[in-house]
Amino acid sequence: MTPDSLSAIISCISGYDPDAMTVPQAQQIIQDFITPLHAVEQVAIRSALDRVLARDVLSAIDVPANDNSAMDGYALRGDDLDQPFPLPLRIVGNVHAGQRFTGKVGPGECVRIMTGAALPADCDTVIPQEFTHQQSPQDDHVTIPAASVRRGDNRRLRGEDLRLGQVALRGGKLLRPADIGLLASLGVPEIAVQRRLRVAFFSTGDELRSVGETLDAGCVYDSNRYTLYGMLARLGCDMIDMGVVKDDPIAMEAAFRSACEQADAVITSGGVSVGAADYTKQTMSKLGEMLFWKIGMRPGRPMAFGRISSQGRSAYLFGLPGNPVAVMVSFYFFVRDALLRMMGADAAPLPRLSVPSLSAIRKKPGRTEYQRGILAVDASGHWQVRLTGAQGSGILRSMSDANCIIVLNDAQGDVAAGDPVQVVLFDGLT
Ligand code: AMP
Ligand code: MG
Repeated sequence: MTPDSLSAIISCISGYDPDAMTVPQAQQIIQDFITPLHAVEQVAIRSALDRVLARDVLSAIDVPANDNSAMDGYALRGDDLDQPFPLPLRIVGNVHAGQRFTGKVGPGECVRIMTGAALPADCDTVIPQEFTHQQSPQDDHVTIPAASVRRGDNRRLRGEDLRLGQVALRGGKLLRPADIGLLASLGVPEIAVQRRLRVAFFSTGDELRSVGETLDAGCVYDSNRYTLYGMLARLGCDMIDMGVVKDDPIAMEAAFRSACEQADAVITSGGVSVGAADYTKQTMSKLGEMLFWKIGMRPGRPMAFGRISSQGRSAYLFGLPGNPVAVMVSFYFFVRDALLRMMGADAAPLPRLSVPSLSAIRKKPGRTEYQRGILAVDASGHWQVRLTGAQGSGILRSMSDANCIIVLNDAQGDVAAGDPVQVVLFDGLT
């Protein structure tokens, strides 16, 4: 999709109402508006961990490069297995991993072979050492007492992992430990990845104090910059922490300008609720194309989304609500996917599963609710979820105690204990 204006995108959405957005509508608009960055850099494969692969990687070799043994034992000719047992075989050589046996292996003969060693040309089968019998270590014969292998057993075939020319990894993949190992198995020392996303963030609010400062009467410590830091770090972003910005139009404009001059995306928290600190909205709109939504969700109802520019530089902007739980929920259900799309990542959505809820949950149809849950296995080995306790949007402990978020969609009504609910794993099962 080509870059488009927000107004063009929303004109295609039937019944668009900024004061009554559904979660899926808002998610769709964000996905349609965002275009991947496509800025590529070459890095050593270890540095490519958690980065987005820029292009498909084709295998330049067969992996493994030779038929080889999967066991320590004896390489033999499959034809010999048609002979009666016990079957004596003469040992005509020895081959270790990294060596080649170049001699002939005739009928009734075998070669002692170690795991990973290339199979001798005449052999197609390996009998594990523990299925054989040898009179003494000096004996040049080994006996197979009974039919314990079939032709082709314990042989790893050339190219069975990857064939020459085959796509080993697809561009867009977020590289995990197995992937950088796979690149190493292809002999690739460096790889093209998307450059890290630069994300600037700041908190807004006169009442906010930063850690290390005295907590004046009526003030709260700013926690959103810390949860955002953690969530952005997990996504592998480069971060620009711009601190706390006062509810003041001049300070606000300076912060927004500086943020979008330095970053690909800007995330703010606070000041987007109805009536509160209106100049946040004014400033955002002044600097770009901006939508303000009331999304049918709890927590996290208000949100601003768009693109702002300054000095010829522009950045996507996510104006999140101020409440600490709302910030995290909005991040996981809107911002995360948007940032992954900017990174060009072909990432799976957060894992979602259906499990019975131990807790009865009150829920009004007509909005999406995100309740914090603890997913655990019961005594009989079945997964189940229960609420973490008080679910207020300012109660950050409910996120800290949770290992999943229970998603109750628009249509859902009250949940009775034992009913299945959808849970989303947002940060692993820790
Ligand atoms: P606001 O959206 O600015 O009206 O803020 C909503 C609520 O979230 C208020 O109680 C704020 O004090 C609180 N809040 C806003 N920003 C932060 C922050 N960075 N850390 C902790 N609480 C915040
Ligand atoms: Mg505020």
